[in-house]
Amino acid sequence: MTDRLPGFSTLSIHAGAQPDPTTGARSTPIYQTTSFVFNDADHAASLFGLQAFGNIYTRLGNPTNAVLEERVAALEGGTAALTVASGHAAQVVTFHALLQPGDEFIAARRLYGGSINQFNHSFKAFGWNVVWADTDDVASFERALSPKTKAIFIESIANPGGTITDIEAIAAIARKAGVPLIVDNTLASPYLVKPIDHGADIVLHSLTKFLGGHGNSIGGIIVDAGTFDWSKSGKYPVLSEPRPEYHGIKLHETFGNFAFAIAARVIGLRDLGPALSPFNAFMILTGIETLALRVQRHSDNAKAVAEWLSANPAVAWVSYAGLPGDRYHNLARKYAPKGAGAVFTFGLKGGYDAGVSLVSNVKLFSHLANVGDTRSLIIHPASTTHSQLSDEQKALAGAGVDVVRLSVGLEDKEDIIADLDQALKA
Ligand SMILES: *Cc1c(COP(=O)(O)O)cnc(C)c1O
Repeated sequence: MTDRLPGFSTLSIHAGAQPDPTTGARSTPIYQTTSFVFNDADHAASLFGLQAFGNIYTRLGNPTNAVLEERVAALEGGTAALTVASGHAAQVVTFHALLQPGDEFIAARRLYGGSINQFNHSFKAFGWNVVWADTDDVASFERALSPKTKAIFIESIANPGGTITDIEAIAAIARKAGVPLIVDNTLASPYLVKPIDHGADIVLHSLTKFLGGHGNSIGGIIVDAGTFDWSKSGKYPVLSEPRPEYHGIKLHETFGNFAFAIAARVIGLRDLGPALSPFNAFMILTGIETLALRVQRHSDNAKAVAEWLSANPAVAWVSYAGLPGDRYHNLARKYAPKGAGAVFTFGLKGGYDAGVSLVSNVKLFSHLANVGDTRSLIIHPASTTHSQLSDEQKALAGAGVDVVRLSVGLEDKEDIIADLDQALKA
């Protein structure tokens, strides 16, 4: 290598990986083993005491997963990362290191539906209380702060409408309050948005979506930006106080700017247990090698589809930040200049029945609840994911009866448009 810093595509292929030292295998092997032999008793003791880094047991870490961790940390510009079994596991493990029972965190109302459920119900059972704020009214985050607030959580490009969040404005509020900003960067991927450059302290992904990219493997990751001072306020005892199970070491004092990634591994992953399978890590690594190519094409296709829909007489409105007239277009130009992603919503003049008819008549699109596959995906939230809500609640969640959500795939854009055309006419 020269002293040139490698570019994004180079990192997507090489970061964290080397030919296998034992066999010379060029592609990262799947280390399909539960456990790893110690050199001797002293080595074992130092691994367990966190005095040495190394492999113990795949719930705590695995060499295939370690390549994926280094790769995503490099792509996001973080100091270290931790892979877990799913995007939701990344959220649980992250908040487990930050919150004590009775604590609060602020979350943007515009989120992946599963995250809204997780925060409203399962997190409540742990005594972790979500306070909702509105990304269209950044000051609402400031108003939601209390002495119990321990973190702020947003999506960079947000569900379901592909709206763009003003990360820097919310990061400034978090910094002033002395709490970390957590950004779910799933819909953008680091190819489109780099939250750490805009003030994020922790970046999360559902690897299931664009990073894996092929709709075949569930996974999640936590990236530590290395920017937050965990010892300053005494609000984060997991990081700042002595750990009895590790001979009284203090994680932040010992591990410095990658202490959060260590805490998430040696406390959260160790005790909660949602480890990523090395097989899934291999599949996701393979996906990441083509991330830049895929996400650019996803975004270009989505823009073409959004433009076509905007001119269609059956369509009442299109919400895609990549369109010049869109409410979020200026934020998109600032945070996601290469493209506004593949996921967006539009409204049908025919309302509920037209939505049901469209998802029933598409042939190329798959009617299912996912995003970030090579394949084009469609869902009518009012008759599926949001069907239990009242019409008013549906509208507040961005899932009104007329709303259709697309995740535009990598097929030829002419075929994607032709499919929507025939289904809208049917
Ligand atoms: C899918 C998704 C999640 C949850 O990830 P899983 O891997 O399904 O657990 C979280 N956030 C966003 C934005 C998602 O799209």
